Amino acid sequence: MANYQDALKHPIFEIISNASAELGIESYVIGGFVRDYLLKRDFKKDIDIVAAGSGIDLALKASELIPKKPKVQVFKNFGTAMFRFQDTDIEFVGARKESYSEDSRKPFVESGSLTDDQNRRDFTINALAISLNPHDYGQLVDPFDGIKDLEDKIIRTPLDADITYSDDPLRMLRGIRFATQLGFDIEKDSFDAISRNKDRINIISGERIAEELNKILACDKPSVGFLLLEQSGLLQIILPELTALKGVDESEGHTHKDNFYHTLEVVDNICKNTDDLWLRWSALLHDIGKAPTKRHHKKNGWSFHGHEFVGGKMAKKIFERLHMPLNQKMKFVQKMVSMSSRPIVLAQEEVTDSAVRRLVFDAGDDVDALMTLCSADITTKNPKKFRRYHENFDLVRKKIIEVEERDRVRNFQPPVTGEEIMERFGLGPSREVGVLKEAIKEAILEGEIQNDYEAAFSFLVEKAKKMGIEVKH
Ligand code: ATP
Repeated sequence: MANYQDALKHPIFEIISNASAELGIESYVIGGFVRDYLLKRDFKKDIDIVAAGSGIDLALKASELIPKKPKVQVFKNFGTAMFRFQDTDIEFVGARKESYSEDSRKPFVESGSLTDDQNRRDFTINALAISLNPHDYGQLVDPFDGIKDLEDKIIRTPLDADITYSDDPLRMLRGIRFATQLGFDIEKDSFDAISRNKDRINIISGERIAEELNKILACDKPSVGFLLLEQSGLLQIILPELTALKGVDESEGHTHKDNFYHTLEVVDNICKNTDDLWLRWSALLHDIGKAPTKRHHKKNGWSFHGHEFVGGKMAKKIFERLHMPLNQKMKFVQKMVSMSSRPIVLAQEEVTDSAVRRLVFDAGDDVDALMTLCSADITTKNPKKFRRYHENFDLVRKKIIEVEERDRVRNFQPPVTGEEIMERFGLGPSREVGVLKEAIKEAILEGEIQNDYEAAFSFLVEKAKKMGIEVKH
């Protein structure tokens, strides 16, 4: 067996090796650290240690051997412990054997050997272990030929795939996520087993599903993962709003584009321009309102009237179902979905100052994010149209900057306040005050007057006069 001492440069390994020698128990580094080292991926500051004995005892002993003794967090119920050392989370677990029941992904656990522990791992490439024991320090323990799967770029389960996925269905999502992150293929038998066991995903909580979807969305090309989710039938269960976009309908010679594949293209496009997870979610959900609003008209063909508004509401429901944060992040996604056609419409028509001002006013600080979403949305295969839309977008961007400098409508504050209107015209709180305030805002957005006090005030006096209201003093 090859020796991998080179992987063990981090000072924690020698410390753990000494600790396990003192306790007389064997220990190994296992899982993601070994996989990522062999793939030459960036070290994620997370190291998993498995002990053929008590993981908690090993963590406590190792921490004692560190001069600035780090605080050990012990999770007695799980038989695990962890501490932070030089910016890295070191996690300890005792080698275990697991057996599962039908309705839960919580296994019955008993202690076991390293081999038992490797058997319970999700994929061969995640079951690789390197010894920290003095007598064979650095030796790779690879019972399932995970190293070959790493070379061949294959995701495969150590044991029978049907059992592995049925025991813990989260592994189906993890497999698809790893395939997307690493650019690996899921071995055919394994993929077929995912399709067969897809309904088991129903025992997984929304949070865990969302966590994996977030990781897929964080990849360079999330479409890979979403296509696998779709082909396996999992997507239909976890995000039916997306699979509902699949297909091209034809009626009286009119067709529309397949909005599912279009959506995946938009997601891949946006990933080239932003790392913001929530903007990526916005791209994923931007067209979901198209399924429930799809209509066919004899004259004009297909329409999706009001799909942005409907989509925004659906986005909220998805966040609730997947137990995602219902805070500003959700509001941001909702806003992006419901405004997702605004710049496109602009880019198709003449770009007027007032339309740009309204866009900046409505989008506020999110106008740049919205522009990023909408450029990603241009997926036309017609090179002429593609160029024209992008040129118009550049014009919109330029105008946004001009309008912002001149008119400051991004976080619009009315130049004349409601209180001043009441005082100057001797009005109490009333409908008139609202009408006058709105008239000032409209005049500014339409470009009839400048966004400053003087212009707004003379406009106000004129407007009030027309309404039969006179200035008091
Ligand atoms: P990443 O940090 O990118 O998610 P990782 O492999 O380190 O990758 P973790 O979730 O930290 O992933 O899990 C650590 C190790 O624990 C995995 O490499 C795998 O061996 C094992 N593991 C994690 N989750 C499961 C699971 N659901 N079923 C079986 N083994 C698992």
